Amino acid sequence: MSQKPALSRVVSHGHYAPTFDAETAEEVYDAEKERLVRSLLEEIGEDPDREGLRRTPLRVAKALDFLTSGYQLSAEEIIKKAVFEEEVKEMVIVRDIEFYSMCEHHMLPFFGHAHVGYLPNGRVVGLSKVARVVDVFARRLQVQERLTNQVADALMEHLGAHGVAVVMEASHTCMMMRGVQKQNSTTVSSAMRGTFEEDARTRAEFMGFLRRG
Ligand code: ZN
Repeated sequence: MSQKPALSRVVSHGHYAPTFDAETAEEVYDAEKERLVRSLLEEIGEDPDREGLRRTPLRVAKALDFLTSGYQLSAEEIIKKAVFEEEVKEMVIVRDIEFYSMCEHHMLPFFGHAHVGYLPNGRVVGLSKVARVVDVFARRLQVQERLTNQVADALMEHLGAHGVAVVMEASHTCMMMRGVQKQNSTTVSSAMRGTFEEDARTRAEFMGFLRRG
């Protein structure tokens, strides 16, 4: 076939425009990342040219870009676009926000649920945006404690709330699959800011909501 392969119309989620390798007519997403994944496959004793692995470097490069897409996003922008004035005096709680992150020590997934509460100071934010703020920080290489603090600090700073509480419960595959191999342990981390830090009753009210089935 003398015809050149058409350029892909797939819109990339990463910052690379997909191109094609003229010799193999295969999509190239990110040549450098794909080359590194190919080397990694060889290093662990695999054959990167066998059928099942042929497109794996491409898939891994795309997956990695998605899983670390939080670096390109700003929690401030997300919050500030969705804030509205509202005289709410009561605590707002968003419970059981599913999240997936990767530990920075092993680049293995950790995942679980985040519970976020805040005491508004004349301003509230769309509830789905709270979940997006969690994703902004989860989709990076993380340690759970820092992730928890970053979510709390971003909401505290850009929402101007009286207080923010974040509790995260997660399973770490680096503990489950290797190392101590504790399949059933979960790690709980919390960050309390403002009234949640200063006032034990506010904190207790929040924790009470989390325990309710
Ligand atoms: Zn780890």
